[in-house]
Amino acid sequence: MIIMKTEATEKEVANVVKEIKKCGLKADVSRGEFRTVIGLVGDERKIPFSHFALLPGVKEAVMVETPYKLISKEYSKLFNGQADYRVIRVGNVSIGTDEPVFIAGPCAVESKKQLFKIAEGIKRAGAHMLRGGVFKPRSSVHSFQGLGSIGGEEAEEALSWLREAGDKYELAVITEVRGETQVDLVAKYVDMLQIGTRNMYDQDLLTEVARKNKPVLFKRHFGAGIDEFLSFAEYIAAEGNKDIVLCERGILPVGKGKSYTRYTFDLAAIPAIQKETYLPVVADPSHATGRRDLIYSMSCAAIAAGASGLMIETHYNPAEALVDGQQMITPDELKEVIDACRRVRRSVVSRQ
Ligand code: PEP
Ligand code: MN
Repeated sequence: MIIMKTEATEKEVANVVKEIKKCGLKADVSRGEFRTVIGLVGDERKIPFSHFALLPGVKEAVMVETPYKLISKEYSKLFNGQADYRVIRVGNVSIGTDEPVFIAGPCAVESKKQLFKIAEGIKRAGAHMLRGGVFKPRSSVHSFQGLGSIGGEEAEEALSWLREAGDKYELAVITEVRGETQVDLVAKYVDMLQIGTRNMYDQDLLTEVARKNKPVLFKRHFGAGIDEFLSFAEYIAAEGNKDIVLCERGILPVGKGKSYTRYTFDLAAIPAIQKETYLPVVADPSHATGRRDLIYSMSCAAIAAGASGLMIETHYNPAEALVDGQQMITPDELKEVIDACRRVRRSVVSRQ
């Protein structure tokens, strides 16, 4: 990375960027309160650091080898000083403040009536954002794949319900993008794009989603280490989009674990990730546990661990849901969870 002098001019910054491009790399220019820092995107071994150190306006030119430098705390501290966390705006919602954000809704959007009834319920419970899958990632081709899989018209209609419900109940809306061909369509309707656990490694999808310049909810793959998770989040940041919210949603259980919980909720990952990056971390206790009777306690635990928010599958009648009914709670139960989480947040110092 290239650290500019406090008094460096725009012309000097532009010159450094030009030199970086000449070496075949991309530049990530961050202008902070203190100074401008230019991150290098690409193979840093192609950069003659001693030459860069002598360019006008340059204070220091250093090689950084961590695979997730653009989203690292160290990087943001260089230009932002002590403000080593980022608050991400999604519609009217801010993620990453001391107030936890609650994202709720069905696993899949099934009908307009279903979605509006749930949206009304979660708003009443105190949620801030509405979720609902239109393109569902499913382990079996024989199960319901979401309305999006029926056809283009159905997909667009379901997305428009999300938008309408969000507008009606003043909830920001989020849905998953499962493939590159869906990105343009989905981005037209929602405030935030979700990348699901199964697509964490799809770098082409990450790049395409990042380019929409909308906030991204990025879920950890159930088999990914924290280093891999952050390295792939860096693909989004490398496109100049740092509005990334990381989501812990459970990792593969060991032994007989699977007969008790759907995945293993990696709660320690929440503060561990926060030590590394300025990006906010939220948690999804629904997919992590797969059990509605564990949502209350695991939501409180995730907030105590420092999560900036939660994603919780909610339905007025979980028994009639086509997907994931076993882990859904009702809007009344969601209200209890939200109230309890707010109390937990007040009694636990959030930022470690
Ligand atoms: C979801 O949130 O709808 C979902 C499918 O979650 P995950 O990608 O974590 O399995
Ligand atoms: Mn689900």
